[in-house]
Amino acid sequence: MREKLRRFMIGRYGTDGLNQFLSIASLVLLLIAIVSRVSLFTWLGVALLVFCYYRTFSRNISKRTEENYKFYTLKDRVGSKFRSWKEQWANRKVYHYYRCPQCHQKLRVPRGRGRIQISCPRCGTQFIKKS
Ligand SMILES: [Zn+2]
Repeated sequence: MREKLRRFMIGRYGTDGLNQFLSIASLVLLLIAIVSRVSLFTWLGVALLVFCYYRTFSRNISKRTEENYKFYTLKDRVGSKFRSWKEQWANRKVYHYYRCPQCHQKLRVPRGRGRIQISCPRCGTQFIKKS
């Protein structure tokens, strides 16, 4: 049986970070489905699981590697966004956060200085805000 499985897996992709994520996500969705009795979650969970198995047994290794790479890129981006929210929340009493009206760069100004002129370090736009 083991030998058969090993031979079956030759030339196939196997598992990676994205598949680990998919299997955990599908498990969570299926649990939500059991608790909430909403069948949509069952279908979503099953769909993710099918996709996960499809990727594991796929012979198109370069395509799967690329997907995994994209997954990690996205994960990094979400992670850094989350960290910046956390930082913003932790510093909410000390700093005021604004976005530049021109280039949407995020700017941080100390609170309690009254009306101040802020100049964007990226594009040089100046605007007045209360700090
Ligand atoms: Zn700007």
